[in-house]
Amino acid sequence: MKSSIFDIFKIGIGPSSSHTVGPMIISNNFINLLKEKDLLKKINRIEIILYGSLAATGLGHASDKAVLLGLSGKSPQNIDTNSMDIEVENIKKNKRINLIDDIQIDFDYDKDLVLKMEFLPYHSNAIKFFVYDDENNEIFNKTFYSIGGGFVLSEDEINVDVIEDDFKVPYEFKNAKELIDLCKKHSLKVSELIMENEKTYRSEKEIKDKLKEIWLVMENCVTEGCKHEGLMPGRLKVPRRAKKLYDKLSNKANFSMVDPLEVMDWIDLYALAVNEENACGGRVVTAPTNGAAGIIPAVLHYMNRFLNKNLSAYNMDDINSFLLTAGAIGMLYQKNASISGADVGCQGEVGVACSMAAGALAELMGGCVDQVENAAEIGMEHNLGLTCDPIGGYVQIPCIERNAMASMKAVNAARMAINGDGKHHVSLDSVIKTMFETGKDMMNKYKETSLGGLAVNAVEC
Ligand code: SF4
Repeated sequence: MKSSIFDIFKIGIGPSSSHTVGPMIISNNFINLLKEKDLLKKINRIEIILYGSLAATGLGHASDKAVLLGLSGKSPQNIDTNSMDIEVENIKKNKRINLIDDIQIDFDYDKDLVLKMEFLPYHSNAIKFFVYDDENNEIFNKTFYSIGGGFVLSEDEINVDVIEDDFKVPYEFKNAKELIDLCKKHSLKVSELIMENEKTYRSEKEIKDKLKEIWLVMENCVTEGCKHEGLMPGRLKVPRRAKKLYDKLSNKANFSMVDPLEVMDWIDLYALAVNEENACGGRVVTAPTNGAAGIIPAVLHYMNRFLNKNLSAYNMDDINSFLLTAGAIGMLYQKNASISGADVGCQGEVGVACSMAAGALAELMGGCVDQVENAAEIGMEHNLGLTCDPIGGYVQIPCIERNAMASMKAVNAARMAINGDGKHHVSLDSVIKTMFETGKDMMNKYKETSLGGLAVNAVEC
């Protein structure tokens, strides 16, 4: 596993990193593999099977659209989010699909894209492609897995223990204890240590440019989310709320001393805005996933607006430090547990994002490394055991509100840690281990299949 924070923070599209971003990357990788094998011109038909959680909730998460667009050479980072639906409608209507290199083949959406409610052994999000020539002989097939947060593996990669870096970072760590010990030994903050590691892969200027790009997408996502009204896509007909809340909060001249908790409304607003954009297929940053994309931007906006001494402008150095520390904590979960709701439940998405934001905020509030670790630990401890139960398979209910709630928990976790001395009973490594074990023990119906939890007990209307 490459140890870079830019594997955690990736610019993509909504509504889901495991069900939209991952499938698009997979089908893009697959079509490029066919090109490498010189098979493009021999293709007469492609059959795609979406398995398990992708079959259960894939339509609500736009997995079908994502695989078709990936085959057409689109990637989550460069796709025009405004033209996606039109392109897919054209494929369905014309029963033709444009692959890369100007190759066009017949494609019958109703027959060639199959949803199969069967769980392949390695992971609940699997996609299999079969390619046929013009005599209908199968000439190639391959299985891929979308393992969460936009990370994907082909069937050849799953038995490779760990894909180690070609590069050696100066501060190698496998868990939170090693990270904290290294910080103490070298008198570095978590963000400073990670910056040194990142310099193994790219120059400091490139790192800062990439962090700025990530921040600008997060900021734009909040701005866009506060502008749009109407219903979110899908049959649930859930109305967007961020704009109304934004208008209401903006119309108040100053923060009311009558209600000092009004700042919480702003944190809610930032999270709702991002997750509504995500649910509508907008441009978002996986942080560490799309389903949980609102928490880090919400807490960052809180930091910029309410903790920043220079109220006229945000401080890019603080934002860089926040993202570096949050990314380091995300890497701990990615390495030692999972960041996928389909794999370990919502603790793996919303819980991890809360933990990342809490630790990062604690550092920016002046916390020592023990307090950073404590904040990250509290952020997860109180998210353990969350079902992943998106109603109707849409990343809307409970996902959007869950991000607002977790953003608040992240702020509270940072404050609790800062008010302590960093000594605490439960370590971050213990909660990461507990989260993974709890998630693995959860039945599949509680893990992004929409077959359990709120997804069956809340009435769709
Ligand atoms: S319930 Fe949580 S893990 Fe599941 S899709 Fe929603 S945000 Fe993601």
